[in-house]
Amino acid sequence: MLIISAKRGKWRDKGGIESADKEFATRRPQIVSRDGGRCRFCNAKLEKMHVHHKDDDHSNNQPSNLMTTDELCHAVNHVGLLGKAGHIVYLPSISQEDISHLTRAIIVVIARGGKDAEDARQLARYLIATFTEPVVATFGSDSPVHFGNALLQLSDSSYNNRTSTMKDVRVLFDVAALSKGAGSIAKSLYPKAPDDIVGDWRRIADDIETRAGMQT
Ligand SMILES: [Zn+2]
Repeated sequence: MLIISAKRGKWRDKGGIESADKEFATRRPQIVSRDGGRCRFCNAKLEKMHVHHKDDDHSNNQPSNLMTTDELCHAVNHVGLLGKAGHIVYLPSISQEDISHLTRAIIVVIARGGKDAEDARQLARYLIATFTEPVVATFGSDSPVHFGNALLQLSDSSYNNRTSTMKDVRVLFDVAALSKGAGSIAKSLYPKAPDDIVGDWRRIADDIETRAGMQT
């Protein structure tokens, strides 16, 4: 399960960073190929993949500490680094992994333009407007930066407990901030028939609207 996390510990203060980074550069493609080029959270296979250090220690390049992920799922693991490119929401009915899929569909549909693009923008706005509210009411903010900082200040046991305390909390991404990646995402996910996405997009959007609607 993908749950919002922050990069804890000042690992970067340790020595040997340069050699660790060199080691990481070599290991990176090996890890992506080991994982079949797919995100270990949402299973998406994209042109550009990231490699995540599970324990946040960037000098620990043991294969068991490394996992392939995509940009979105990776950002959830370092939520404070998202800045203004996302919102923290209360959204139990949709998994964070599904939000990655939905976000990519929205980005590509918007980039294609036309009537569907406006629907996609509307859905993105609807989700943010509806589901940030309970988070702002409870925590006073929906900023990933504030949540990232709060996660850093938790005791280890409270932090580890977030798998239950934060289990219904998600990150919704700002699709406008991610629009630069649209071409690359479309190429990876819809390489042959660009029109396929219209069918896919409708199915995903209807599914999300139905499930989200049951909450309100
Ligand atoms: Zn992913």
